[in-house]
Amino acid sequence: MDSRTAAHVLRRIAAYLELNGENRFKTRAYLGAAKGLLAVGADDLKPLYESGELASVRGLGPATLAVVRDLVETGESRYLEQLRESMPEGLLEMLDLPALSPAKIRLIHQELGIETIEDLEAAARDGRLAKLPKFGPKTAEKILRGIATARDRGAMRLYYHVVVDARNLLNSVRSHPRVVRAEIAGAIRRRLETVEEIEIVAACDGDPVEVAQSWTRVPGVRRADGSGASVSITFADGAHLRLHCVRPSQFGAAWWLATGNTDHVRGVVERLAARGVTAAGDGFTGADGRALALSEETAVYDAAGMSFVEAELREGLGEVEAGARGALPSLIDRGDIRGALHCHSIYSDGKASIADMARAARERGWSYIGITDHSQSAFYAGGLSRERVIAQLGEIDELNEASDGFRILKGIEADILADGRLDYPDEILDRFDFVVGSIHSRLSMDRAAMTERLLTALDDPHLTILAHPTGRLLLSRPPYDVDLDAIFEKARDVGAAIELNADPHRLDLDWRHLHRAKSLGIVVEIGPDAHSTAGLDYMEIGVGIARKAWLEPRDVLNAWPVEQVLSFARARRGR
Ligand SMILES: [Zn+2]
Ligand SMILES: [Zn+2]
Repeated sequence: MDSRTAAHVLRRIAAYLELNGENRFKTRAYLGAAKGLLAVGADDLKPLYESGELASVRGLGPATLAVVRDLVETGESRYLEQLRESMPEGLLEMLDLPALSPAKIRLIHQELGIETIEDLEAAARDGRLAKLPKFGPKTAEKILRGIATARDRGAMRLYYHVVVDARNLLNSVRSHPRVVRAEIAGAIRRRLETVEEIEIVAACDGDPVEVAQSWTRVPGVRRADGSGASVSITFADGAHLRLHCVRPSQFGAAWWLATGNTDHVRGVVERLAARGVTAAGDGFTGADGRALALSEETAVYDAAGMSFVEAELREGLGEVEAGARGALPSLIDRGDIRGALHCHSIYSDGKASIADMARAARERGWSYIGITDHSQSAFYAGGLSRERVIAQLGEIDELNEASDGFRILKGIEADILADGRLDYPDEILDRFDFVVGSIHSRLSMDRAAMTERLLTALDDPHLTILAHPTGRLLLSRPPYDVDLDAIFEKARDVGAAIELNADPHRLDLDWRHLHRAKSLGIVVEIGPDAHSTAGLDYMEIGVGIARKAWLEPRDVLNAWPVEQVLSFARARRGR
């Protein structure tokens, strides 16, 4: 019994308990134990169990340890089986739908006898669901949308979650005695916001087929396909791994092939073909019919007579042509970031004080932070009253006076009200260094009304940055319908910036649209939307997305020195 499978069983128990209406402490104990086991990352838990070491793993207590003992000794959990008998599988699937809490699923089950997603869909359509207490036509509609989104996404997961899994798998591939080099490829390397499978390329000292096949037999594998040097593996917890094993001389070619999307690969292969180089299996054959040694990726681009294309750009958005002309952008890097401009503190719904947020920003090598708590109408998030705004501005002045060099900027995340006005009178807005404006309510307006609302907001010269411009939540809430071209045009004309919200659940504005915004000359702010000091690290994910959008340091507001940021906001106000 391996850690991964055991953690998966513990998480399922937690889900069943929640559906059974058990108290949250009990549920949390199982989730905590799952986390602890994953951190141990053992291929076989038996020795740890027998030596007693398991009892000291963080998060494991008597009840969860008993489950693990069962798993180690028998390969299954009686407790899970017992719970399963009391709960139809379909109810667990419903846990993944956004509008349904476990309590609601329980109610639906008890009152309407619903046990499958299909039954649920029917009840949402024929009005039975809307009649339940605490339900209504809106909830029923949300559930229908959730079902549609769930079907749409299939096995998609957030980059942010998958990348952790991918790094763990990469470490175990690298620890194989016959593997001399291994790297992550595919969608994760391109830093796509959602990912279906983990792709790893490994250079082997020895027969690649043998190494690949040895992975189909590692603990935790539920299913494995492929009899050659490339295998596709599904683990017990549903994670997908595609592993390509090659000889070291072919590593660069294989890594390159497994990274770019189809359009990118096709574009480069066409250029190679024009030079007499053709694809053959995991490698390439030269004009003379001999296999080319392509141990490094750069050799592929050299052979195609073009510059090296960074992995994030390999999406078929014109990068092959730009690479041939030597006109690729010099992409922004983590080290180019000088500050963060969208951050919350304990004044609204953040978890850290302004001083702590500033310290954490400084530790990340930045020279400024903008504090942007929620405005007054965001009562759900502790939005700031006029008095609290004034208290906060005073605190920032004091902190700045005591600081040498590092600067805290006075900002606010002002709600854009339904009519497009910002949530404070001018007299308050005038006191901030800059204003982030965003929509948090009335998200279902139609396209014309939503566009009008945002255009009106952009008419207010106080608004420096339009934050999370489409309101999407990846894999759970689609973007609202809005005429982005009209928004871009307006933002450019008035000198406002557009946000790339770096919260891994948002990554809004989408990089495909940002790519277009850049070509129009719009300034982009990468906002971590941090609600804690740890949240500042979302910046890293945002930078990955910015790279996908071809952004360079000069395109990004928070890659500029603080004085330039302030004059950007002032210039906007002066217009
Ligand atoms: Zn927001
Ligand atoms: Zn925010």
